Amino acid sequence: MNIHEYQAKQVLKGFGAPVAEGVAITKASEAEAAAKQLPGPLYVVKSQIHAGGRGKGKFKELGAEAKGGVRLAKTVEDVVKNANEMLGNTLVTAQTGDAGKQVNRLYIEDGADIARELYLSLLVDRSVGRVAFVVSTEGGMDIEAVAHDTPEKIITVAIDPATGVTDADVAKINAAYGLDGAATADGQTLFPALYKAFTEKDMALLEVNPLIVMTDGHLRVLDAKVSFDGNALFRHDDMKALRDETEEDAKEIEASKWDLAYVALDGNIGCMVNGAGLAMATMDIIKLYGKEPANFCDVGGGASKEKVAAAFKIITADPKVQGILVNIFGGIMKCDVIAEGVVAAVKEVGLQVPLVVRLEGTNVDLGKRILNESGLAITAADDLDDAAQKIVAAIG
Ligand code: GDP
Ligand code: MG
Repeated sequence: MNIHEYQAKQVLKGFGAPVAEGVAITKASEAEAAAKQLPGPLYVVKSQIHAGGRGKGKFKELGAEAKGGVRLAKTVEDVVKNANEMLGNTLVTAQTGDAGKQVNRLYIEDGADIARELYLSLLVDRSVGRVAFVVSTEGGMDIEAVAHDTPEKIITVAIDPATGVTDADVAKINAAYGLDGAATADGQTLFPALYKAFTEKDMALLEVNPLIVMTDGHLRVLDAKVSFDGNALFRHDDMKALRDETEEDAKEIEASKWDLAYVALDGNIGCMVNGAGLAMATMDIIKLYGKEPANFCDVGGGASKEKVAAAFKIITADPKVQGILVNIFGGIMKCDVIAEGVVAAVKEVGLQVPLVVRLEGTNVDLGKRILNESGLAITAADDLDDAAQKIVAAIG
């Protein structure tokens, strides 16, 4: 689950991280009062969408010369003017795709005088099984480009969970940034605080790009991107409350209500599977026969008929889907439950596209009988290979 920048900054502030004062607004009429609460004379008007690259982004409705999704303003009037121009329009950034995202919320912030822009993130480094800081002096930029062109400029500091962030770790990070004076002292409290926020709140990613050194020598978190580990959200009601469903794919929200793993992709074959490994194999074999998956929905281990029906409806709701492949290996999952769920969903929402079903495992004969006796136009397949060929042939 992702949250907005202004929310992430609130969370980090709670752990003692230095962030600017700011006010989030959803109406342009609130801009003046928001700006007047801040000290000035420099303000920043920041689009709040769940995507990065806002500064370099472009608004669809405005001309190519118009400024991006993060704007500096020198007066309260200027804040209001920018807020009027930005709110309600669609921002296209390197991370939104061509469709862009509508800006429904702005964060009006006290502007900082920047001396240096640094990169910092915290993530779970699976290669060492630890939470690690990823630091680079090349902040404010596209970190993927830095990783590609100058990988030596990115340094990783993995943290021992038994000790947390040690003085030696802080010294390593400070040295990697080349910090001195007040910034060094700030680092001593900031880096452990970020680690604490990351682990206590079960974050999956915490990215500060840029972390800045201000002209007064102090550090500040200028941008913040936080995503949480969905599997741990049940123990963080306060973080769950920050969810903004308007930023998410409607089908993914519906899937998460049913505890289904649904992933939208770009092709045109919808896939219902059980288990991540089978999902990967199913997508591989579809590609092998020359087509692309539109999505996959993993119904998991012990799904009920209702859950299977919900999964099927989510898959068919995608207008890109021209054919559906149900590929189930019944281990804990029973094939008859899958069959009943599919039949129930088709009876409710109809079936406009070819459907190929491959069932194997527990209660497979019963499952096949339910499908055969349903009277629905379902193509049965004997194995994975046969199933992939049949669905690819069916959509032409
Ligand atoms: P992003 O483009 O979505 O990553 O948004 P950021 O929050 O990182 O802002 C983009 C850029 O705007 C930063 O890299 C800064 O160069 C600039 N910027 C943001 N806030 C301030 C500020 O308070 N003062 C100044 N001078 N520049 C800022
Ligand atoms: Mg940024």
